[in-house]
Amino acid sequence: MTVTPRNPYALKEVFLADALADDERLWVKSADDVAFRPLFLSASQGYWMTIARIRRSGVVSRHSHPQPVHGYTIKGRWRYLEHDWVAEAGSYIFEPPGDTHTLVVDAEGGEMMTLFQVHGSMIYVDAAGAVTGYDDVFTRIEQCRRHFEAVGLGASYVERFIR
Ligand code: FE
Repeated sequence: MTVTPRNPYALKEVFLADALADDERLWVKSADDVAFRPLFLSASQGYWMTIARIRRSGVVSRHSHPQPVHGYTIKGRWRYLEHDWVAEAGSYIFEPPGDTHTLVVDAEGGEMMTLFQVHGSMIYVDAAGAVTGYDDVFTRIEQCRRHFEAVGLGASYVERFIR
């Protein structure tokens, strides 16, 4: 049996030399001092890889996940109100499907950056548990398209991250 160097049905790889991009245009702002850097947007599998960058303190979002999330903290610190651990640089977290949690960043940790692999969707809820909105790979793609258009890279810039 031989294996061809590249199966004709294989998707094209995605390689980014600068995942923690210095170029501010590559960070998609989602709220004041909250941004994400898209690395990989899987329209075919329904998940996305992003680096979250949060430069403010306090409650950032309350949400639940119907599918798993993996996170690796690169710098700073953050936590969920519902859990007793603190994510610091070098830590890894698996967020199980069904968990609802409130993301908090404390001022003393400074800027936080975390690589997240989010499957399915983020379902945003208010303090009473009522659903207020959602994100999935398609809303992320649309958010990126609008951002890249606005900063002059062009909406189609997002396509390099999509498979
Ligand atoms: Fe989460």
